[in-house]
Amino acid sequence: MEKLLIKDAFIIDPATNIQDKLDLLIVDGRVGAIAPGMVVEDAQVINAHGLVCAPGIVDMHVHLRDPGQTYKEDIQSGCCAAAAGGVTSVVCMPNTQPVCDNAEVIADIINRASNAPAHVYPVAAVTKSLEGQSLTDFSALKAAGAIAVSDDGRPVSTPSAMMDAMEKAELLGLKVLSHCEDLSLVRGGIMNDGDVSRKIGVSGIHRAAEEVGTARDIALAGATGLPVHICHVSTRGSVALIRDAKRRGVPVTGETAPHYFMLTDQLLEKRDGDYRMNPPLRTQDDVTAVIEGLQDGTLSAIATDHAPHSPGDKADFVHAPNGVIGLETSLAAGITALVKPGYITLSKLLALMSTNPANILGIPAGSLKIDSPADIVIFDSSQGWTVSADRLHGKSKNTPFKGMMLYGSVKMTLLDGRVVYKNGSIV
Ligand SMILES: [Zn+2]
Repeated sequence: MEKLLIKDAFIIDPATNIQDKLDLLIVDGRVGAIAPGMVVEDAQVINAHGLVCAPGIVDMHVHLRDPGQTYKEDIQSGCCAAAAGGVTSVVCMPNTQPVCDNAEVIADIINRASNAPAHVYPVAAVTKSLEGQSLTDFSALKAAGAIAVSDDGRPVSTPSAMMDAMEKAELLGLKVLSHCEDLSLVRGGIMNDGDVSRKIGVSGIHRAAEEVGTARDIALAGATGLPVHICHVSTRGSVALIRDAKRRGVPVTGETAPHYFMLTDQLLEKRDGDYRMNPPLRTQDDVTAVIEGLQDGTLSAIATDHAPHSPGDKADFVHAPNGVIGLETSLAAGITALVKPGYITLSKLLALMSTNPANILGIPAGSLKIDSPADIVIFDSSQGWTVSADRLHGKSKNTPFKGMMLYGSVKMTLLDGRVVYKNGSIV
């Protein structure tokens, strides 16, 4: 038996309500015991004095760019970025090339991820080639290992296709993850439509583009009783729609991303493509509403929408593709913007980043209960660091947090009880 003893940590496990100074014993890759002052003669010891030990982060919205655009990221580099950020479960989106719309692509991703420093859970496309027309073979995709379906990057274009998808997915126990956007309202916009877009003279995307999409999928879920998960919520209107739907008992869940609770469209005044993503950065009022949504449970998960693009891709502000990276900064962004100012507790942040997304998707993660996989993050919750592109582990450097001081530094990440990241390096 292989034994590893994490000594003297402040253990926080939202799943079992543990918040105490304790030791954690890992036996053969699984949580074996949590108790004070353990002495285990044949165990290797990690001294975690002054550090927090928690279930590894579950990032339910990641683009690994593999297959097809591996100059931006690949499975291995994306999982290294994950490990450096304390992320042990990566849920990857299907807008790869080829699209993840058939069993072969899913099986290939799972096969190539088997030795990566994070667990990888592929999401399959809802429609063939993400074209919004005919549904993929959900049953075959699930059998190959897909854990959810989404056309992320694009909305499922018609309500009828979305309703069919929700029905089929429910029969198979797959969650539908919806990128809510009405493309007819985008009108060539590249950032939030508002004072800043007018000031710098570029076309804006009206917030209604997101909110019409959110309202549509909530209407479908409300009328049918079938569940839907709303991705990357960014506006006050979307938060209000989800809050109202939940009060009415509609089976809807929602996620947001660190950039939506921390950054505003004022950054676009720099005309830097690294601040462009879809949905776009909004206003301070939206940031406040997203934080309120996280506080009151309207939004139940934080994911990154990690979307790597090369410096060349991002060089031209107006024509740059949308997307920002986030795997290595999400925990620190949450601590800095939500915990430090007192909006939520650290335990609640870990629920939003680990326990809740694992529960939404049915992933065996997000908990330190006895016999669960020892996927663990050990971090200093108060240490500050400045985000600089050259210390990141992924292939792309398009972080909107560059130059910012964040608090919360990952010291060690364990996957199935094995150390995969330690003090700045992949192990
Ligand atoms: Zn999306």
